[in-house]
Amino acid sequence: MVRYVYAFTEGGRDMADLLGGKGANLAEMTRMGLPVPPGFTVTTEACRAFLTTGSEPGGLIREISDHLAVLEKAAGRRLGQPDDPLLLSVRSGARFCMPGMMETILDIGLNDESVLGLAKSSGDERFAWDSYRRLVQMFGNTVMGVDGALFENAMVRLKEARGAVDDLGLNARDLSELVEAYKGLIRHETGEYFPQSPAEQLRRAVLAVFESWDGERARLYRRREHISDDLGTAVNVQTMVFGNLGPDSGSGVAFTRDPATGHRGLYGDYLPNAQGEDVVAGIRNTVGLEQLKHLNPEAYVRLRDHMGLLETHYRDLCDIEFTIERGRLWMLQTRVGKRTAEAAFTIAAGLIDEGLITPDEGLARVGGEALARLMFPRFDTDAVGPALAHGIPASPGAAVGAVVFDSAEAVRRAAAGEKVILVRQETTPDDLPGMVAAQAVLTSRGGKTSHAAVVARGMGKVCVCGAEDISVDPRERRFSVGDTTVEEGTVISVDGSEGAVHQGAAPLVDSAVMRYFETGEGSAGVVDAVARAMHHADRVRRLGVRANADTPQDAARARRFGAEGIGLCRTEHMFLGDRRQLVEAMILARTDAERERALDALLPLQRQDFAGILEAMDGLPVTIRLLDPPLHEFLPDRTELAVRIAAAEAHGSPAGAHDTELLDAVNRMHEENPMLGLRGVRLGLVAPGLVAMQVRAIAEAVAERKQAGGDPRAEIMVPLIDTVEELRLVRQEVEQVLAEVSKTTGVPVECPVGTMIELPRAALTAGRIAEEAAFFSFGTNDLTQTTWGFSRDDVEAAFFSAYLDKGIFKVSPFETIDRDGVGRLVGIAVAEGRATRPGLKIGVCGEHGGDPESVHFFHAAGLDYVSCSPFRVPVARLEAGRAAL
Ligand code: PEP
Ligand code: MG
Repeated sequence: MVRYVYAFTEGGRDMADLLGGKGANLAEMTRMGLPVPPGFTVTTEACRAFLTTGSEPGGLIREISDHLAVLEKAAGRRLGQPDDPLLLSVRSGARFCMPGMMETILDIGLNDESVLGLAKSSGDERFAWDSYRRLVQMFGNTVMGVDGALFENAMVRLKEARGAVDDLGLNARDLSELVEAYKGLIRHETGEYFPQSPAEQLRRAVLAVFESWDGERARLYRRREHISDDLGTAVNVQTMVFGNLGPDSGSGVAFTRDPATGHRGLYGDYLPNAQGEDVVAGIRNTVGLEQLKHLNPEAYVRLRDHMGLLETHYRDLCDIEFTIERGRLWMLQTRVGKRTAEAAFTIAAGLIDEGLITPDEGLARVGGEALARLMFPRFDTDAVGPALAHGIPASPGAAVGAVVFDSAEAVRRAAAGEKVILVRQETTPDDLPGMVAAQAVLTSRGGKTSHAAVVARGMGKVCVCGAEDISVDPRERRFSVGDTTVEEGTVISVDGSEGAVHQGAAPLVDSAVMRYFETGEGSAGVVDAVARAMHHADRVRRLGVRANADTPQDAARARRFGAEGIGLCRTEHMFLGDRRQLVEAMILARTDAERERALDALLPLQRQDFAGILEAMDGLPVTIRLLDPPLHEFLPDRTELAVRIAAAEAHGSPAGAHDTELLDAVNRMHEENPMLGLRGVRLGLVAPGLVAMQVRAIAEAVAERKQAGGDPRAEIMVPLIDTVEELRLVRQEVEQVLAEVSKTTGVPVECPVGTMIELPRAALTAGRIAEEAAFFSFGTNDLTQTTWGFSRDDVEAAFFSAYLDKGIFKVSPFETIDRDGVGRLVGIAVAEGRATRPGLKIGVCGEHGGDPESVHFFHAAGLDYVSCSPFRVPVARLEAGRAAL
C-alpha cells in the first residue's frame, strides 16, 4: 500500500525525493537527537497525485489524522483545543530548495475560541492575538486567494492610527481588531467565512501548499534553475514553537560558515521577539548572531554545538533556521546551504584541509558555472570615488545599470535591452521576475539571509542588501542618500563584493582569478582555492581540452588558460576586413589566370596566419578547418548594392562596370537557405583552387616552422560532409598539395586529414567516413541545427522563449547538448567510427564543448577532447575533472 505520510522519526536525509529536502533534513536532525519540534511530512508522491487528479489521493486525510493523533498524544493537547491549543505550521519543502517560492501557513489551530485559550495558557494576550492575526492573514492570502496587499494596507492604516512605528507598537486590543478586519476582508473578497474548524484549516493548508507548486512564481523559479516541473513538493506539518513570546524569545537564521566568502566561523542574523518569517522578510533589521551570545548565552552555546555537529555530520556548509521560545532552543530547518562562487571554492579547500572531505569530494562540490562567475571583472577600487552608500555584501560581483523601483519596470526595460538595477526596500517572492531581469538587486533593509540576499546568491546575481542610508521612495520613483537624490533611470554601480553603491558607471578590472589564469600570479584566498581545484581536475580528467581560436593572440591566451591545442581554427575569420576584397576578386574571376592571381595574393597572408598560430601552439595539435561559410557572405549585401546602382542611375550617372558585375555575381550566388547551401566541403569541391591554396598555406607554414626549429602539429579538417565520397575527393587533393610542398621545400610535411561530423547523414554513415578520416570532430552547432531543423541564427529570437515557457525544453539545445536526439547521433558516430578505425581520435568543437553539463555527456560518450572558446577552457578543464570522478 502506498504511504503518503512519514513522521519525522521515520525518515532520513537519503529520502529527499520522497520527503523533499526540508522533510528529509528535519528527519535527519530528529534522528541525530537535536531539538526538533515534532511533526510529520506529507510526501511529494501525494502532491503529484493531487496535481494529476485535482483531488487529494485516497487515504491521505486518514493518514494525516493518524499522525496528528500521535502528535496530540505526545503533546497532551489537541489541535485547536479551546483551553490550551496545540498549533501547527504547514510548510512546503521540495526536493530542491526554492526559497520563498511556495507557501507557508503558521498557527493552524487558532480560532475565535482557542485564541482565548492561548492567551491564557501563554499568559500573553498580545502574543495570542498576534498569532491569530498571522494565521488569518496567511490563510486568507495563501489558501483563500485574497490579495496580500489588502491585509498589508489594513495593518498600515491601523499602525498609522495608533502612531506605531512597527508591529510591536500594536497591543492585544489593536490586534484583535485587526483580526476582525481581516476576517471581514476575507468575507468580502471571497464570500466565505474564515474557517473555524482546525481540521479544515489543516486540510486546506496542505492542499494549498500542493497547489503552490504550480504557482506562477514557483514555475518561473524552476525554469531558471532547470528544476523539473514533475517533482512536486512535500508538505511539512510541525508543532509550532514561538519566537514572539517576549524578549527571551526570538528567531534566527545561521550558517556554519560565511556563505559569501566561505570563511570559517558562525554567521547569521537574529531577531528578538519575532517569528522566523519576520527574519527572512526583513520586516525589522536583525542583529548579528554574536549578539545572541549576550542576549541568551546558554541558547547561544547550544546553538553553536548543534551547528558544529551538523557541519561534521553533513561535511559541508549547513544553514539552519532556529527559534528560541522562552529561552529554549529549537531547530526548525537545516540544509546544505547555498553559497557564492567564491565561497564554494573556499569551503571545498577548507574542508579538504580539515580532513572532512577528500579532494575528489571537494572537486565534486565546485562547478564550472561558479568558476565562470569568478572570472568576471570587478570594479577598479583605485579608480572609483567614495561610495554613495554602503550595505551588506550579500552576493558578489560588479554590476552597472539604470535604477528601477519595481519588478515590472525592470522586466520592461530589460526586454528593451537596457541594463537595470532593481532597488527595493526589501524584496518578496513577487519581485522574482524583476530580479531575474536585473543586473543587481539593492535593498535598504534586511540581512545576509533576507529574501533578496538568498535568492540573488542562488542566481549568481549581484546583491547589496540592508543599505540603511538609502531611503527608497517607490511611489516617487527615486531614492535618496543624505542630500543626494537618485531618480529612476539614473545609472549606478553596485559592488556586491564590497557592499558598496557608486554613482555612474564605475570602471572595471579583471578579477583576481582571471589574472591568475592569465599570468599564473596570485596565491591567496579564493585564487589558491581555485588553483587547487584546477590542479586536481587536471590530474583526474580523461578528456583533453582544446580551444577554438583563429589568431595567434587567442591561441596564446588559450594556452595560458590550459588549452592542450586548438580544436577548431575557423579560417573564414581570416578572410574578413581588408582581405574581403581579395576574396571578392577570387569569386568574380572570369578566367583561370584572374582566379590564380587572387588566390596567389591570399596565399602569403594565410601562410602568415597559420605560422603565427602554430608558433603559439608549438608542440600541440592545431586543427585547421578549410573554409566553411557560403561565399556570398564575402560579397556586399544584395539590396544595398541594387539601391546604390539605382541611385547612381537616377542621378544620370550609370553604375560603374565593377558594381554591375558585382551585382550579377551576388544575384548568381544568392541562396534562399545559405546554411543548407554552398558551404563547407561543397565549396571546396566547386571553387577551383581554394582548397589547394589553403592547404598550401598550411603546409608552407608547417615547413617554415620546422625550418625555424619548431614543432608544428597542424591537422586539416574538412567541414560539413554528408558522404565519404566528398571527403575522399578533398583528401586526394590535400595529399597531393602536401606532397608538392614537401618536395619544393625539402621539408617532409604530413598533416592528418579528418572531418567534422555535423550533419545527421554523416553521423549515421560514420563507419564509412572513418575509412577516409584520421579524426572526427563533432560540430554540434550544425548538428543541432540540422537534427532539430532549427535555424541557429533565427530560432532563439523567434520562438525559443515560448518553447521554454511551455516546458518543451528546459534549456536551449544550442546551449546544452540534447542527449536524446543529437546525443544519440554522437553515440552512433563514435561507435561506428571506432568500429572501422579503432582508436579514432574524436573531439567536439561546437559551442557545447564549453558547457558544463555537455562536457559530462562528452566524457561519457568516450570522446578524446572538447574544444571551446579560450575563456571557457578553465571551465571545461574543471568539468572534465568532475566528469571523471
Ligand atoms: C559547428 O557547427 O558546431 C561548428 C563548430 O562549426 P561552425 O559553428 O563554424 O558552423
Ligand atoms: Mg559547423
